[in-house]
Amino acid sequence: MDEHELASQVLAAVDDAAYRNSATRISTVHLAVGGRRVLDLDLLQAIFASAARGTVAEGAQLSVKVLPVRHHCRNCGVNFAATRAECPCPECGNPRTEMIGGEELQLLDMEVEDVA
Ligand SMILES: [Zn+2]
Repeated sequence: MDEHELASQVLAAVDDAAYRNSATRISTVHLAVGGRRVLDLDLLQAIFASAARGTVAEGAQLSVKVLPVRHHCRNCGVNFAATRAECPCPECGNPRTEMIGGEELQLLDMEVEDVA
């Protein structure tokens, strides 16, 4: 998934949530993405801003939280969080660990602008 697809997914989710909450203006969108996704966050912001024009999310800020990637050690079985793809096991030093997940995309929350 690239930034364009991600932005349109987020926008669809925001639009849906805004409709359900009768919100007419969104000021901030809080997202969490898995650390395994390679994203250009500035590009994502720019694409989101242009895609959001004319929607409830026009002018909204994207606040993106990158989740740590979980690793699993095949040698000793420990699970741990890491920020990099290649990361040795902290317990036994085994350099061959596998990543678990890391491709999450969650719409955490959104801030609604009060309309008078
Ligand atoms: Zn280990």
